[in-house]
Amino acid sequence: QAPLGLHLRAVALNSTHVAVEAADVTESHRLARVRRDFVANVSHELKTPIGALQLLAEALLDATQLPDSAPEAQSEDLIAARRFAERIHHESARMGRLVSELLELSRLQGAEPLPDPEPVPLDWVIAEVVDRTRTTSSAKNIEVVYDGPKGAMAYGNDSQIATAVTNLVENAIAYSGEDTKVSLTMRQSDDWIEIDVADQGIGIAPQDVDRIFERFYRADQARSRSTGGTGLGLAIVKHIATNHGGRVDVTSALGDGSTFTLRLPARPPEAPSPSPTAIEI
Ligand code: ADP
Repeated sequence: QAPLGLHLRAVALNSTHVAVEAADVTESHRLARVRRDFVANVSHELKTPIGALQLLAEALLDATQLPDSAPEAQSEDLIAARRFAERIHHESARMGRLVSELLELSRLQGAEPLPDPEPVPLDWVIAEVVDRTRTTSSAKNIEVVYDGPKGAMAYGNDSQIATAVTNLVENAIAYSGEDTKVSLTMRQSDDWIEIDVADQGIGIAPQDVDRIFERFYRADQARSRSTGGTGLGLAIVKHIATNHGGRVDVTSALGDGSTFTLRLPARPPEAPSPSPTAIEI
């Protein structure tokens, strides 16, 4: 009789011998869930006060409008007040992004594997992402181009796939200079669809490449902070990819740009076969 919480798994060694692996999964699953719920609750509770801060900062910005007509008549106090209001607005917007990304990450961690994958038309998703990021790309005169087969379908969740591609395109724009190009390319094989997001930006040093998918890891703190990033975007992409049974990879050279590849299943997942060898007690 195994004690409560032991996960027993029989592994066939050869035709006559079987090894039994045992792991205490219940306690570690419970702790992981408690941690996830805590992060989700805290993030949720922070949303309201951060939203209020943003509204108040907007009201302050309106109230400290500088008259363009007579710059010499602008009081130093008013100029300082406006500068502070701009800072509060900027920082509260960043906190708002951090909290919604933390919430998103804890939701993704609680939904493995993906429930009910559905066919997702990728042309539509990509067109929407290009549209969604147009304000930031055109502010830097970055051209976002797409090339891929028409009508390709991935299997999964459309809004998660849109979030993953958006995060990659937003990064490509954020870490590129003006007047460059971001190219999205899609390839399809029988089992997989791969979407490349390639930029001509700053690139990633070899010692950082393996770590950028970790939560809060940034290749260069100062450089990243000026983009207003949270350090969670790629962790979210990685979770979405793995929840779909796919993966995300990067190839990059410092100063020469980066290519991120998101790989998603092109077929519906096979129904999980009942495993006679795994018993959870
Ligand atoms: P952030 O909010 O800082 O962009 P991410 O998780 O999206 O967080 O990315 C983690 C780090 O990976 C970034 O801080 C940056 O250093 C690096 N990075 C991500 N995408 C790119 C890219 N396209 N080009 C260069 N560096 C990148």
